[in-house]
Formats: sequence, C-alpha cells, structure tokens
Amino acid sequence: MRIVLHERWKCIGCGACAAVAPDFWEMSDDGYADLKDCEREEVEEGVKETRKLKKEEEDENQNAADSCPAECIHVKDED
Ligand code: SF4
Repeated sequence: MRIVLHERWKCIGCGACAAVAPDFWEMSDDGYADLKDCEREEVEEGVKETRKLKKEEEDENQNAADSCPAECIHVKDED
C-alpha cells in the first residue's frame, strides 16, 4: 500500500498542491495546505497528515509532491 504524507510544519502556503491536485489538497484558513480526508497526527515537529492511496490516486499526488517547493509532500510505501 502506498500513502501520501504531508509534513505540514514545512508548508509555506504556496498553493501549488491544491492547484494541481484539488481532489486531495486544499488550502486551510490558516494559509497552509491540508490533505483532504487524512489522518492527522501531532509529532515532535508539528502536524503530520497521511492518507492511504489507491493505485489510480498515486499520480495526482505525485504531481502535488513534484510541484511542492518545500518538498513536504511524499508519496511512499506505508511503513
Ligand atoms: S505545494 Fe507544498 S508548500 Fe505549497 S501549499 Fe502545498 S504543501 Fe504547502
């Protein structure tokens, strides 16, 4: 199973992810991105958001990862 992971504490609020992958990403009222329908976890650095991906959902999220200047979106294998 592949997942998408957002290290939200690194987000600079540029809006690129929400522009290229609006089915999965949206901008929050605080100016930073949120991964829709995700699991949120408080870790030492800040908020970590994760969501399991179906095969057909990987490309759109990889596009979001590739467009992120802060490199805080990662499509990866589930731990
Ligand atoms: S592309 Fe990256 S830095 Fe820009 S809003 Fe999305 S998560 Fe934040």
